[in-house]
Amino acid sequence: MSIVDLRSDTLTQPTPAMRQAMAEADVGDDVYGEDPTVNRLQEISAAKMGKEAGLFVASGTMGNLVAILAHCDRGDEVILGNLAHSFLHEAGGISAMGSVHSCQIPNRPDGTLKLDDIQAAIRPDDAHFPITRLIVLENTHNRCGGVPLSVEYTHAVAKIAQEQNIRLHLDGARIFNAAAALGVDAKDLVDRADSVTFCLSKGLCAPVGSVICGSRPFITRAHRIRKQLGGGMRQAGILAAAGIVALESMVDRLTEDHARASRLARSLEKIPGITLDPGTPYTNMLYLSLDEDFVSLTGTQVAELLDEMDIKVGVVSERRFRLVTHYWIDDADVERTVDAFSKAFLM
Ligand SMILES: *Cc1c(COP(=O)(O)O)cnc(C)c1O
Repeated sequence: MSIVDLRSDTLTQPTPAMRQAMAEADVGDDVYGEDPTVNRLQEISAAKMGKEAGLFVASGTMGNLVAILAHCDRGDEVILGNLAHSFLHEAGGISAMGSVHSCQIPNRPDGTLKLDDIQAAIRPDDAHFPITRLIVLENTHNRCGGVPLSVEYTHAVAKIAQEQNIRLHLDGARIFNAAAALGVDAKDLVDRADSVTFCLSKGLCAPVGSVICGSRPFITRAHRIRKQLGGGMRQAGILAAAGIVALESMVDRLTEDHARASRLARSLEKIPGITLDPGTPYTNMLYLSLDEDFVSLTGTQVAELLDEMDIKVGVVSERRFRLVTHYWIDDADVERTVDAFSKAFLM
């Protein structure tokens, strides 16, 4: 039987349609700006985000790095959440590559930063202080359980940014999941932001790549920084072709992943010994813990037992799991997962 891999939506393999589009893609040298498929992906992306221009990059990490470096000079300060992917999981790239200073504000459980905290973190104009240049929000918020940030909240942060002449970048790795969950157009979630990065290679199933979108002058700056980081990719249309299929055919189906995550949650919570995080799942990821009174096994031991039954889950801490639904998880896989958990607890 096939393996049910719920560790992440990054594990998604490209679809047959993507493989075919990749094989047939028209390509050129993208460093010369001559790859028609990359150009098309960038145009489609910009249109979807309601921005002037887009830039194809190798990963979400590179997208955030390039965007933050395009907004900030050396020594400038970026305000971000203490649980932000760009703070926790991007190897400190903004400091290492850009000498950008970070100010971390506590993320609340719903993924937001308190507006008062943002206000308080903005530095007065004084030679003692770094210059506050940028605020970064993450939508959906990965470490906060895949929770979407609302249009209203994003607008409220953008208002603060505008009033203080600070820019706003959205780490929208899963912005289409946020839009699907909130029932809004992705454009409305990013309209007041100066830039956004989204991933093609997560729930949208493309093998590689992310896109940064913003104004044309911003993307011109970002393009040079991408080059500095070694991110000019020549006949990258081979990759961009899968990204186009992702945007054209994989966005509208994300609600299916969310529905399966909900179904999985409702079944798992009936198993004695499993406690779901309150509110989970918001989108395509669910977080659950093992109740010590019922389950003496550690998370790693349970994960090993599940693995023997061909079910892979993410162990995020001693007794906590993350399960992420995606294109390659169907209804039968959801049932197999629930059965496997029940069996693992009896062992
Ligand atoms: C995955 C992710 C990224 C980085 O994307 P990579 O392609 O893995 O580098 C950035 N931000 C968030 C919120 C993510 O979940």
